[in-house]
Amino acid sequence: MEIERIIRDSVRVLEGYSCARDEFSGQDALFMDANESPFDTGYNRYPDPYQRELKRAVGRVKGVDPARLILGNGSDELIDMLVRSTCEPGRDNMIVFSPSYAMYEVCGRVNNVEVRSLLLGDNLEPRWETLFDAVDEHSRLLFFCSPNNPTGNRWPLERMREVADRFPGWVVVDEAYMDFATGGDASSPASAVHLQASNPRVIVLQTLSKAWGMAGLRVGIGIACPGLIAYLNRVKPPYNINAPAQRLAITALADEKTFRERVALITRERERLRRALLDSGCFDRVFPSEANFILARHERYRELYDYLVMNGVVTRVRHAPPLLDSCLRFTVGTPAENERVVELINAWKV
Ligand SMILES: *Cc1c(COP(=O)(O)O)cnc(C)c1O
Repeated sequence: MEIERIIRDSVRVLEGYSCARDEFSGQDALFMDANESPFDTGYNRYPDPYQRELKRAVGRVKGVDPARLILGNGSDELIDMLVRSTCEPGRDNMIVFSPSYAMYEVCGRVNNVEVRSLLLGDNLEPRWETLFDAVDEHSRLLFFCSPNNPTGNRWPLERMREVADRFPGWVVVDEAYMDFATGGDASSPASAVHLQASNPRVIVLQTLSKAWGMAGLRVGIGIACPGLIAYLNRVKPPYNINAPAQRLAITALADEKTFRERVALITRERERLRRALLDSGCFDRVFPSEANFILARHERYRELYDYLVMNGVVTRVRHAPPLLDSCLRFTVGTPAENERVVELINAWKV
C-alpha cells in the first residue's frame, strides 16, 4: 500500500521493542519478566505501553475507534515521531508554514531534515495556488495547523483536502485548538478527522494540554489509519505515558460536563477580551481568533510587554516579519485575569 512508501527504510524493516507482558493480559500473575520491584509502591509496575484504557476514554470523547489512536508525551513527542518515521535525514524534506507552531521546524532541524518553510498569504492562510512549487518527490511530511498558532484562524478543510490528495507524503493537521473553534469540538464535521475516510495519509493531532486543561500531564493524541499507527508504534518509546498520567487523564476525561462548561466560558471570554482590547484603542490590529488566545499588534510591543511583566502579567511576544510583526499573544484567562490585563493596558495608554 501507498503508506509503506512513505515510511523511512530503517523503520519499515524494524520490529519495534516488544514487552514481555504484551503476551499476557490476565490478572493475578507473578510478574517476573520486567525486573521491577515486587513491593507495591503504587508505581512499582511499568505502565501499559499501549495505554489501552486511556485510549478507550479518549476514543469515547472523540468518537474515534481506539485502534486509530496513538498517544504521545504531549503532541510534541508525536511531531518528533512523525519526522523520524518518515524522513530520511539529508535526503527528504518537510513542508511547514510561517508563521505557525515553531515545533515542526525545530523537530525537522534536530533530525537533520530539510524544512521548507512557506510564508502564509496576506489572509493568513497558506498560499494554496503556489504551494506545490515547494513540493518534490522527496517531500514526505506537511504540517497544517488549524486553528493556527499564533494567528488564531482556521484554514479551510476543503483546501487541506485538495492538498492532501495531491501531496506525495503524510499530511498532518494539528488541531490543538480545535475544541475552541466555531462549529466546534474535535468530533464535529469541521475536524480533519473526516478527511481520513477518503485519504489514509492524513494524520490529525490533538492534545489534552489546552481545552482539557492537562498540560502538566503531557498527553498528546494522534488520530490516523491503523496501518499508519502500527508504524508509529514501532518508533514510540514503549512507556511514553507514565502510569499516574494515564490514570489522571482517564479520570478527567470522564467529566465531559466540566470540560464543556470551561470551553464555553473561555470562548465567551475570548470575545469579551477581544472587544476590550479593540475598545482600548491601544492596538492597531486585534486578530479574530478561533483558539484560546488573541494576537494584538502594537508598534511599541516590547515596551508594552515589559510594562505588563513588571505588573506581574506574562504575555508572549510574536514578532516574525514580514507577515507578522510587533505582536503580543494573550492567552485567555479567567474573567478576573482578563479584566486585570485590560485594566493595565488602559492605564498604560494614558
Ligand atoms: C500547544 C500546542 C501543541 C503542543 O501540545 P502538547 O500536547 O502539550 O505537546 C501542539 N500544537 C500546537 C499548535 C500547539 O499550540
